[in-house]
Amino acid sequence: MNLDEIIQESDYLSLPEIFYNKERISPLKKAFSLHVNRELMDELQLSDISDEDILSLLNGKSEKIKNSTFAMCYAGHQFGHFVPRLGDGRAINLGSYKNYQFQLKGAGVTLYSRSGDGRAVLRSSIREYIMAEAMHHLGVPTSRSLAIIGSDEDVARERWEKGSIVLRIAPSWVRFGTFEYFYHSNQHAELEKLADYVIHQSYVHLKDKEDAYFLMVEEIVENTAKMIASWQAVGFNHGVMNTDNMSIVSITIDYGPFALLDEFKQDNICNHTDAEGRYSFSNQPYVAKWNIQRLMVALSPLINYERMHTLLEKYDAIYRTEYLRLMRKKLGLHVEDSEDNILISELLGILHNARVDYHSFFRALCLYEDKIALHKLCIDTNALDTWLKKYYLRLEKELSSYEEISHYMFKNNPKYVMKNHQLQEAIDLAVAGDYSRVDILMKLAQNPYDEHEEYEHLSQITPKKLSNLKLSCSS
Ligand code: AMP
Ligand code: MG
Repeated sequence: MNLDEIIQESDYLSLPEIFYNKERISPLKKAFSLHVNRELMDELQLSDISDEDILSLLNGKSEKIKNSTFAMCYAGHQFGHFVPRLGDGRAINLGSYKNYQFQLKGAGVTLYSRSGDGRAVLRSSIREYIMAEAMHHLGVPTSRSLAIIGSDEDVARERWEKGSIVLRIAPSWVRFGTFEYFYHSNQHAELEKLADYVIHQSYVHLKDKEDAYFLMVEEIVENTAKMIASWQAVGFNHGVMNTDNMSIVSITIDYGPFALLDEFKQDNICNHTDAEGRYSFSNQPYVAKWNIQRLMVALSPLINYERMHTLLEKYDAIYRTEYLRLMRKKLGLHVEDSEDNILISELLGILHNARVDYHSFFRALCLYEDKIALHKLCIDTNALDTWLKKYYLRLEKELSSYEEISHYMFKNNPKYVMKNHQLQEAIDLAVAGDYSRVDILMKLAQNPYDEHEEYEHLSQITPKKLSNLKLSCSS
């Protein structure tokens, strides 16, 4: 079985030509298979497909699909400013299989590349490839990574780097910015076609409802609030929350200069170009809401804007409820207590003030009354002890035993998180031709809650000098 035989032509091509441009994959020089996500291949019942076949698909060797590969057109608000035409500048869609749309990142220039080269460098490809899988296994809605290839192709960034292509999959690659493109260019008939397409593809249960457009927006509001709550709970900072990077099916897409927090810093900024901290960690819930408002404006020719606007209050409530639910899980709390939000915000204050390693702290907290490990992580032991006293009292309201609570917490607080310095080590090795760390990190990313004795060293707290570094957008 070959992969190109099972990939179907995308139904996106049934939309008018203004929606996309047909594009051919530009092969990379001396391409090789770097990693195939066998776990996901098995899940998709694609176990029989060989690495060679995947390599040839990613590197444009398939005759079968070459007339149906395309890039999508969209617009977007970038750092608050509207850019009327963006589009897939370095993404090429292959088609669909089951519920997924297959897309390559880094496969060469498209109509929408502007001054870009359409390429993705090994460094950024490895980051996206591993992180998307890590997020999925942490319970965050996200695009997934199916395969990555490397090459001997030189790509110019701040310095010369090697080109790479990632095969990523998602139920939809339509973005808030796709709607914005048609709204702001006054193509309202096309806007309606896009809304119908999205409902047909991703909200099919609403298809026959009279109020389908409004109900779609309502689901986007709800699910975006939940996705952002999961980012905040796992400590994920996206870094480039432009509206063209916001998915219409509320999943995390377009991994750039992201970070999983090392030390807990509410106002963490991971994107070097984000001087004002627009996309800082604590701003994410507000930015997502602002982005939703941009989507509502774009949909206003189809749905009454005032009516859509009422959904924003719902956003706040759903976000708060979901965040509280996820943090309760991290703290091992099943019973709902009205003071829990205070307990949580007090803890976050302590972690922030003492710059405590977020993930290590929660993992250490899983061992009931083991204060030694916690004290090692937190220099302000007085504040921590006061909080712990409250927390242990709170645990008394639970119906489960401490052993059960502890067991539950170990399943909700990862031991292995893909921190930037670890990804960087894997990248440094890969650049030198050693891809073994990519294999290891993928395994850990896919089993973050388990013990892996041989990789204990990859679960340590981030060295201070490598904590919360900012990354450049150039990828
Ligand atoms: P991003 O913030 O990475 O999602 O990218 C913003 C826009 O720039 C998208 O339309 C990308 O397709 C485009 N882009 C980024 N890097 C490149 C590149 N190397 N070549 C062409 N287009 C690019
Ligand atoms: Mg993007």
